[in-house]
Order: sequence, then C-alpha cells, then structure tokens
Amino acid sequence: MADRREREEKIRCDACPVMCYIADGKVGACDRYGNVGGQIVRCDPITILDRRVEAGGEVRPFLASDWDGTLSGDDVFVSGVGAGTTYPDYKPAPFIVSREIAGVDTVTVVTEAIFSYCGVKVKIDTDRHLGEEAATVRAEGEPVGHVTTSEYGSRMLSLGGVEHLTGGTKPEGRVTCDALLRLCQGDAVELTIDGGATVIVQAGHAPIVDGTREERMRVGCGSATIGMFASQWLGHVDEVVVVDDHITGVVSEHQAGKVLGWPDTGIRIKGRRSTPGRYFQVAEPGLGWGGTDIDDPLSILNPWLEKKGARPGLTLLMVSTTGEHAAYFVLDDGLVPQPAPMPEVLQASVDLIAQNCEPALCTVMFQAGAGGSLRSGVTKNPVLLTRSVQSGETRVTCGGAEVFVWPGGGITLMVDVTTMPDGSFGYVPTPALVAPLEFTLPRDAYRRLGGHDDAVRSVADVVEKGGEYGSDMRVVKDRKP
Ligand code: SF4
Repeated sequence: MADRREREEKIRCDACPVMCYIADGKVGACDRYGNVGGQIVRCDPITILDRRVEAGGEVRPFLASDWDGTLSGDDVFVSGVGAGTTYPDYKPAPFIVSREIAGVDTVTVVTEAIFSYCGVKVKIDTDRHLGEEAATVRAEGEPVGHVTTSEYGSRMLSLGGVEHLTGGTKPEGRVTCDALLRLCQGDAVELTIDGGATVIVQAGHAPIVDGTREERMRVGCGSATIGMFASQWLGHVDEVVVVDDHITGVVSEHQAGKVLGWPDTGIRIKGRRSTPGRYFQVAEPGLGWGGTDIDDPLSILNPWLEKKGARPGLTLLMVSTTGEHAAYFVLDDGLVPQPAPMPEVLQASVDLIAQNCEPALCTVMFQAGAGGSLRSGVTKNPVLLTRSVQSGETRVTCGGAEVFVWPGGGITLMVDVTTMPDGSFGYVPTPALVAPLEFTLPRDAYRRLGGHDDAVRSVADVVEKGGEYGSDMRVVKDRKP
C-alpha cells in the first residue's frame, strides 16, 4: 500500500526511453529533468543566442516579465540547448519557432537530440608517438575508441560510436558515454593508449603527453622545414639535418639545397631514402627528437664520406621540426661530429622554426547522425528533410554553431565543441549523448516538407510562455562571428 502511494506521488518523465519516475523536488537519472510541483521541467533554461549581447555580458537571466517586446527575428536565435526532447518523435519537436530573416519568414525547429550513434574525433597536435594505428584507447581502463591516423603534426583518435556505447559491456558503455560527455563539455579527460602514451585531452587546450605539456605543433615534416628555412642557413652552416619521425630532411641533398647550389658534405643518414634529402624510418617513433625515440641525434648518422665532401671543421646543425631540440657540431680530424656552442645566427633560425609553430591544441569534434525518428519531430515525411539538408536549403546547427554535414546518405554532422554554448551537452543512461540540434529553413519550404506547421510559434510567444518543460530562459552571446 505504502509502495503504491509513493509511486503515485512520482511522475513519469517521457523525454527518453528510460522513463524515470521522479518524486517532487527530485531530478531524473540524467539530471536534466526534474519534478517541480508535479510538473516535469527541464532543469537547464532554454538558451537564446543574441547577437546584441556584448562580449563580457555573456549570460543574463531572462524572465518573461522582463521582456520588453523588442526582440527582432534577425537578432535572436532560439537554440536547442535546454529545449528538451520529444520522445518518441512522432510528436513535433519541443520548439518550432518562426522569425523573419532578411524579409523571409523562416522556421527553426529546435530539439535536444538523443544520440546513441555518436562519437568524437580528437585531433591532438603533437610530434610525440602516442601509439600504433588501431591501438585501443581507454578511459578508466575501459575501451572507448582507437588511434586512427597520424596527419601532419597531429595524431587523430576516434572515440565512442555505437560499438562502444551499446555494443560492449555495461561498464564500457557507461565509461564511453561519460568520457564523450566530458570531452564535449570541454573538461579534461585522461586517456591511455594500449602500448603507447597516457594523454590528457581537453578541447582547446594543449595535450599533456605522459605528464609533459605539449607546447608546439610542428611547422611541417623535416623536408618541409628544409624547404622553408634552407635559404636562411646558406653561408652560416655546412649541413643541416631536420630530425623527424616521418621524413627527416638533409639540406645538402634536398632539392631546396640543390636549387641554392649547396655543396655536398659526405653525410650519410641511417633510414630508408625516399627521394634526395628525404629519409623515412630514421628511428622508431617515441617521445624524443622530432617524435622519434632518440635522445642523441648523432645516432641516426653513419660514418661521413671524405670522397663526397666530408672534411675536418665541417659544421652541422641538427634540429627537430618544432625547434624544441637543436644541437650544433663540428667534424674533428677523424670526421666525427663534436658538440660545439651554437652560433647566434643559427640559434636565431632555430628560434624562427619555433616561432612558426602553432600552439599545440586538442580539438574535439562531435560527430553524430540525426536519425529517422528525430527527423519525424521536424516533418511528417522525414526523408524530405534529409534531402533538403543535403541540398543546402535547410541549415543545420548545434546550439547555434556551424556544423559540417557529410555528403552521402542521412544527416551526419560534425561540430567543433568549443563553438557551442557552455552546457550544451547532456546524456541519458541508455547510454547516449544529448546534444542540441536546430534545423532552419524558409517557412514555405517547411510546409512543403510536411513540417508540423500547426506547432509553429513566434519568438515572442516562446519567450513569453516557454514550453512543455517550463519557461526558464537564458540569453547568451551568439558565438558566430
Ligand atoms: S533519463 Fe532523463 S530524459 Fe530520460 S526519462 Fe529519466 S529524467 Fe527523463
């Protein structure tokens, strides 16, 4: 009897398949919905982006009673952040808002989408070796993704996806969802790579690899560095080797040196010669010089050849692609390089390499597909929405942020999480991530797609009355330029 009474006092949230029963004053399993006086309310306020809010005045409470009726369609944008979800999506999305943009009646459909099929792509700017391609990436010991490619000065990771969220064990799904959420929220997450490094990843911040904060992203590979700086070295040093895990460059042999008339030096590099002055596999990948495992750059040199130009007194600069490592040598009578103080003019060029490096950052791109059921919250004929998005007629945004929509089937999108308003992401324990999503298109096109035209409301009405899950609002600065 007591049990039944308690149950009766709770009300059911129907915003996701978990269907929590929530007691008055409590929140559901995702912390996003609560029972306030017998009504299910979205705990975060619906977020309106306003171009007129000055930088610095980012957030101000926005209550219906404060509204002076001056919002014009051009200036404000109702985002999906805090909008709530309609699950299952046979019903119209929580807010379908009309406003006038440049004289055109425009509709924005606003929702918080539940993404069971989503992940993040992480770009880590580093020369260091993080792990082999396809190595498993773990958070809290659970597999959450894998290392993909090494591109330019960055290592790419692919995390999440349905295989980890729902295809593995329960802890794997829970930890994956948690790691994705924290990464998308801009928090620091420690990831370990099987057979590789431990990396602390935080969107918009420098990666920390095995406890060392990465400072610089390389200017390019060893060959590119030779191309950029060869003319500055000519006349100041007899040979330059740019040590790099991928392509180590040798100026006297390189095309850039040849064009400048650089004399031969008799240098010989260990490694696989690709084209003149460009060597692959001079050492194993690692945390040392230029992303190799070496601490002594001379270890990549074979004995010098006298008949090809080697002579006592010949000078040699060895440098990495970030300028972080550099050393200067002079050949002794036995043609063995001996360390010597770095001449000022060469130190300046090493400094220039360092200056030309971008600051090393982690970039977190949220990637997800706006699935069929979600689309039916927008229109009764979901495939027409897909086609409209693919043709460019319907613009997709995440919390007002520009997204990249992949060509091909469906609406697969990718967005830089740092361009979205704070607090944009949430989760439900199915497990899945929740992210804001907006579709904006001309109203006549919306009607043509079979849109829920009866559910369209004006911005003013939304501001005044709120929605099914409450009326709290906040206005933040639109991050768009
Ligand atoms: S997990 Fe959140 S959205 Fe899902 S039913 Fe519970 S409170 Fe509602």
